[in-house]
Amino acid sequence: MFKPEKIIIEEKALQYQMGKNLYERFRKENIEIVIQKRANMDYSCENKAERYKEGKKTLILAVKKGNKFESCKPSADFQLPLVSGCSGMCEYCYLNTRMGDKPYIKVYVNNNEIIKNAVDISKEREKTSFEASAFSDPIPVEPYTNSLRDTINAFKDYNNIEFRFVTKYTDVDSLLSVGNKRTTIRFSLNPDHIIRKYEHLTPGLEERLKASEKILMAGYKLGFIIAPVFIYTEYRSDYTDLIKKIQSIYTGEKIELEIISHRFTEKGRETTLEIFPNTKVPLSEIDRKYKFGQFGYGKYVYKDEEIKKMKEYFRGEIERFLPSAEIKYII
Ligand code: SF4
Repeated sequence: MFKPEKIIIEEKALQYQMGKNLYERFRKENIEIVIQKRANMDYSCENKAERYKEGKKTLILAVKKGNKFESCKPSADFQLPLVSGCSGMCEYCYLNTRMGDKPYIKVYVNNNEIIKNAVDISKEREKTSFEASAFSDPIPVEPYTNSLRDTINAFKDYNNIEFRFVTKYTDVDSLLSVGNKRTTIRFSLNPDHIIRKYEHLTPGLEERLKASEKILMAGYKLGFIIAPVFIYTEYRSDYTDLIKKIQSIYTGEKIELEIISHRFTEKGRETTLEIFPNTKVPLSEIDRKYKFGQFGYGKYVYKDEEIKKMKEYFRGEIERFLPSAEIKYII
C-alpha cells in the first residue's frame, strides 16, 4: 500500500469531509503535514531526479475547480479527474511527458461534486463514458479516498453511464462489494522481465493477475492493456507467454484487450533520461517514425512495417489463445 511521507493540504480542502478525515488520519500517523492557501509542492532540493523521488512520496489534497471535463478519446468520452499522478516509478511512464515536473500524487477531496457534475453531463446525453486514469493510476490512493468506490456506487443508478480505469496495482479489495458490468477495470500488463527491468514500486505480473481474478469474480467487466509493447528479437515468444498466462485463467471469458506499442515524446525522453540516466528503455529516434499527436505534440512510434507485423502477430495469437476476448484496438 502506498505510504506517503509528506502531505500538502490546500486550505480549502479542510472544508470537505474527505479533507478533514485524511488530515486526522495522517496527523495520528505522525506524517509531516503542510497546509497551504494554494497547494504547491515545495521541494527540498534542486536536482531533478531527487525532486522526482520526493514528489513520488508526497500526497497533495486539493479541491478540483470548475465543472468541465476534458475529452479522453479513444478510451472514453471524458476524463473523470479524481486523482492525478501515480506513486509508481516506471521508466517508460507516459506521465513523464505532461507531468514529469509534477511527480506528486494529488487527490481531489470534492469527489462528490465531481461525481455529481459527471451525472449532470450524462443527463443531456444518450450514453456517456468516463475514464478515471487519464493522468493517474488511481488505485494506490483508493484505500485513502474511496473515490473510485463512491463513483461506481453513484453511477450504478444510471444505465447510460459507463465507467473505466486502468491500473498496475492490486489494492482493489474496497471495490469488490460494488462490482457491476458498466464499470470496466483494466490491468496493465507486460512480460515479467520487462516489469522487473523498467518498473519500480509496482506489483509483479502474478499479483496483477490475481487481483484481476478478484475483479471478475466481483462482477466487473475486466480488461487488460498490454503496454507498452516493445519490439525486439524475441518479443513474440515473450508476449505469447503473457497471452498464455491470461488464457490459463480466462479461457472463454469475455475480456477486453487494448494493445499499445511503445512510444515516446521529446519531453518524455528528456525527463526519463534525467531521472533514470542509465535506463535501458529504447529511446533512439533513429529507429522510430515521428507522428504528430492529438495533444499538440509529436511522438516517436515504431515504423509502419514493424507495427503492421506487430498487429498481425497480436491478432493471430489472441485469436488462437483468447478467442472470446474483444480487441478494442492495437496501436
Ligand atoms: S504505474 Fe503507470 S502511471 Fe504509475 S508510474 Fe508506472 S506507468 Fe506511470
